[in-house]
Amino acid sequence: MNLFSFTLSTGKEGFYDITSMVNDAIQTTHTSRGICVIYTPHTTAAITINENADPDVQSDLIYALNKTYPDRPEFKHMEGNSAAHLKSSTIGCSETVIIDKGELLLGTWQGIYFCEFDGPRTRKFYVKIIKD
Ligand code: ZN
Repeated sequence: MNLFSFTLSTGKEGFYDITSMVNDAIQTTHTSRGICVIYTPHTTAAITINENADPDVQSDLIYALNKTYPDRPEFKHMEGNSAAHLKSSTIGCSETVIIDKGELLLGTWQGIYFCEFDGPRTRKFYVKIIKD
């Protein structure tokens, strides 16, 4: 089936490096070539690929998203977390990565991140591996 489910306990907001979890799924399936989809079924979280060398990049992304999408009294959504919904839609709930020679075809400085915008919560994400 090559479908893997993962659970994360998150803080209020933040980026969580899930690259090794995705790599573990690929190793389990012995996939040498194919496509990997990383997907989260939440509306106030996201999946993205970005720099994994300098952790300041993630804090700058959070800072800029908070500046771009501040909480506004004009928002009508009763739950009160419209800013988190906006961030989720902006970043997106999935990424697709090519698998080559048994590894994710990521750049040297790239990592796969689960993004929390409305924690703390227990979150899920899925990894689907499609072999060539
Ligand atoms: Zn909501």
